[in-house]
Amino acid sequence: MAQEKSYKYVIVGGGVAGGYAAMEFNNQGVKPGELAIISKESVPPFERPELTKAYINPETNPTLATIYVPSATGGEKQYAKWYKDRGIDLHVSTEIVKADLASKTLVSDDGTIFKYQTLLIATGSTFIKLSEIGIQEADIKNIYYLREVEDLDDIAGAMEFYIQNGKSVVIGGGFLGIELSASLRANNHEVTMVFPEPWLLHQLFTPEIASFYEGYYANKGIKIIKGTVATGFSSNSNGDVSEVKLDDGTTLEADMVVVAIGGKPVTSFFKGQLEEEKGGIKTDGFLKTSNPDVYALGDVATFPMKMYGGMRRVEHADNARKSAVQAVKAIKAAEEGKSIPEYDYLPYFYSRFFKLSWEFYGDNVGESVLFGDNDPKSPKPKFGTYWVKDGKVVGVFLEGGTPEENKAIAKIAREQPSVESLDVLSKEGLSFATKL
Ligand code: FAD
Repeated sequence: MAQEKSYKYVIVGGGVAGGYAAMEFNNQGVKPGELAIISKESVPPFERPELTKAYINPETNPTLATIYVPSATGGEKQYAKWYKDRGIDLHVSTEIVKADLASKTLVSDDGTIFKYQTLLIATGSTFIKLSEIGIQEADIKNIYYLREVEDLDDIAGAMEFYIQNGKSVVIGGGFLGIELSASLRANNHEVTMVFPEPWLLHQLFTPEIASFYEGYYANKGIKIIKGTVATGFSSNSNGDVSEVKLDDGTTLEADMVVVAIGGKPVTSFFKGQLEEEKGGIKTDGFLKTSNPDVYALGDVATFPMKMYGGMRRVEHADNARKSAVQAVKAIKAAEEGKSIPEYDYLPYFYSRFFKLSWEFYGDNVGESVLFGDNDPKSPKPKFGTYWVKDGKVVGVFLEGGTPEENKAIAKIAREQPSVESLDVLSKEGLSFATKL
């Protein structure tokens, strides 16, 4: 007979949001036996962004435990023992394959039935495969994707051991493509990036910001091919990838390929049971879904963006952390008949690669104003961009900022001060933010 387990709270998904939700349940005094986290991954929740930053960095090369949640925000690191000591059941290597929200039942891949009173969905995203956009890659080896720790172990194994100093092609010019290219280059690979957009990180960067990073990458020996897409691959007699075919008819030699063409939220087993919007599970300002006993956190949630109006789904770690905390606070407050303020999220994105590090806060809409030293050859480049809409600063990007400066730009994006003119911003540069 199938095993049945019953909990007051169940979190499905042991990633960033799942880990921070557990942290907040602990802060709120969850009792032993009340909470379970069910995770497809074989390890406790960790800070996923560090996979392409610290985890495969040949200089730091840390163990996974150094990046367990909540290391990014400085709290006590949640080792497996942390969960055990608190009576929180962490079911790793356990995939939920069926959910029946009407009977409050989940079923895992080994047939275990999990019953809950309140469910928190934190299943995150998964990568989009090339085959999903019509490109055949089946049966060709050394083509990699990245999401989970095993993916990064496979990539690190290939780049450091099997394919040393090889030719790598990175498909995609977004966050992951940029970070992974840097790691491959740091491992002495000959790296080419290929993407269809006209510049790097097209959804966030202005052409001027991108031009700095493209110049910097060129100086590092990374080749960037823009405005074209991969259409297929050739392989050698071992079945290893040997060439990437591009839609302009040219080919690139390749010993390994990393594909980073975007993600999609993992919501399939809740289909038809919860309202959806913009590809995610629709929530209110407490991360509560259309079912009052079900909450959605992190990448899967489409929530009201209080600052800007409308609904947004945000595939970034900071939102995963904060939405998790908000949901747990809302659940506990509701149990006590109290209310808490609605989620008021300020978008925050960041990245680190080579010796560079940038942060962005707010909204990248309206007119943009560049300031600072954005010469890719500078020994210590430091520059930024303000976005101005209706006479107010609504977004700020800063490369090379100190923690205090990054705090200052976050404050600007939150407070949205008025500006006399774009010229003032351009002349004052970073001091416009730091003097506030
Ligand atoms: P995840 O962290 O993906 O966790 C989802 C969890 O749910 C996983 O453990 C998964 O295995 C599990 N799961 C899924 N389906 C099931 C199921 N059916 N049953 C059980 N468990 C299931 N964001 C930034 O802001 N800055 C960055 O620099 C940055 N870098 C990144 C680098 C990499 C390599 C990757 C992959 C992402 C990066 N991100 C970054 C994005 C960020 O990591 C995500 O936005 C964040 O992890 C979302 O948290 P989440 O908990 O919603 O999802």
